[in-house]
Amino acid sequence: MDAEHLSRKDFLSLTGKTVALGVAGTLAANGLLHQNVLAQTRPRAVSPPAKIPPGVDEPIVLEAWKSDVDQQSGPTPTPLPPDHRIGYAVVGLGHLALEEILPALSSCEKSRLVALVSGSPEKLKKVAAQYGVAPQNCYSYDTYDQLKNNPEVDVIYIVLPNALHKDYVVRGAKTGKHILCEKPMAVSSKECEEMISACNAANVKLMIAYRIQYQPHNRKLREFVQNKTFGVPKLIEACNSQSSANPAHWRHKKALAGGGALPDIGLYCLNTNRFILGEEPIEVFAYQYSTPGNPLFTEVEELMSWQMRFPSGVIASSSTDYNVHESRRYRVMCEKGWLNMDKAYAYKGQKLTTARAEGKMERQEEIGLAETNQFAAEMDHFSDCILKNKRPFTPGEEGLQDHILMEAIYQSAKEGRPVKLTHKVNQPLRGPEPELDA
Ligand code: NDP
Repeated sequence: MDAEHLSRKDFLSLTGKTVALGVAGTLAANGLLHQNVLAQTRPRAVSPPAKIPPGVDEPIVLEAWKSDVDQQSGPTPTPLPPDHRIGYAVVGLGHLALEEILPALSSCEKSRLVALVSGSPEKLKKVAAQYGVAPQNCYSYDTYDQLKNNPEVDVIYIVLPNALHKDYVVRGAKTGKHILCEKPMAVSSKECEEMISACNAANVKLMIAYRIQYQPHNRKLREFVQNKTFGVPKLIEACNSQSSANPAHWRHKKALAGGGALPDIGLYCLNTNRFILGEEPIEVFAYQYSTPGNPLFTEVEELMSWQMRFPSGVIASSSTDYNVHESRRYRVMCEKGWLNMDKAYAYKGQKLTTARAEGKMERQEEIGLAETNQFAAEMDHFSDCILKNKRPFTPGEEGLQDHILMEAIYQSAKEGRPVKLTHKVNQPLRGPEPELDA
């Protein structure tokens, strides 16, 4: 039996001895399997597409050298040779691109940077030199459509202000390249529908960059919740807040941002609640507030607080604010315990703590997992979908669903009443589970 065909149960029954991937892992005192062990069931590539050269689809296998009780490192990285990786054109060289995405591309296994698009020629020249992007692979917004003629580019990654996502996705789809688009997907559900249609018409894949859905701690919490390890989930409390400084920034302009704290950072609570529960809300009720006279909030909201009711009966209370000290956390209350995630939506530093009743005692545990680069994980997932012709785990429909819910949240806050959600959500909304190193 090879790793590709191992179920989790099979893997456990083998006790690691016949699996040559470095095996074992930590069975915590409560009997929970450590994520590193799960990661070692990572399947190898099947039906390698033309881009993978012969001989590199097999993982490199090292002999086991630690005992079963030691915490194991993850599987040996199996990167594709650089010239066989999926080529990315990054569009918009702002904070996220320069601070996270371009550096993350250097640690990808299946993705590489091949082109840049920017409205700032000076910056473009510097960044291209830093990352070794050839001058002929540097584009402006005017020459963007010429990406069509660049065979090195497989994916266009849109990292622009929210209101520009739709046009650049629609134009990008017409170049025949696959599209990865930052969150929020757009500024309305109508725009999301146009983007999905454009990508379908062009027969290209569309993925929304919901990095938390590729993050090990959040994925582990979701597994606990969906397996009811701590009993039936009943309540969620989630908060994502930060402090803004510059009223001139596009995030505070309705025309470019589409909204304030809700679509920018509150979206993480909304999307993560749906992700961990694996179900869609049927009703929302919201309050909105902005401090009068604060120039940051003349066009977009400061605070949104909302509840979502799910078919299983779970009530998720979420809040977001652009004007309080950073706080990014959530807690899931279950019949027999709770799960708490600190730094839940941060780029790193997630801390997963659980509690459960044990007789008259409460056992609290911190679940230690290896950190991964969330941006590299999501880009490599998209590249994997392209190499194996799979639907992305967070496709355009995932972004559309969030926009429909955000519109209901704004409507509820405006009208001061609960809003029922009656639209049909086609299931499965997401693509197959990503194959992730962890
Ligand atoms: P920035 O303002 O830092 O960068 C945006 C870039 O877009 C600019 O630097 C500029 O690049 C380009 N741009 C083109 N037209 C305009 C315009 N009219 N106004 C302003 N910029 C323009 O934003 P971020 O990088 O923080 O955010 C970009 C996107 O990424 C947003 O959709 C945001 O929601 C998302 N994001 C996602 C995060 C995540 O964790 N997934 C975290 C942060 C942001 P150039 O000068 O090269 O043309």
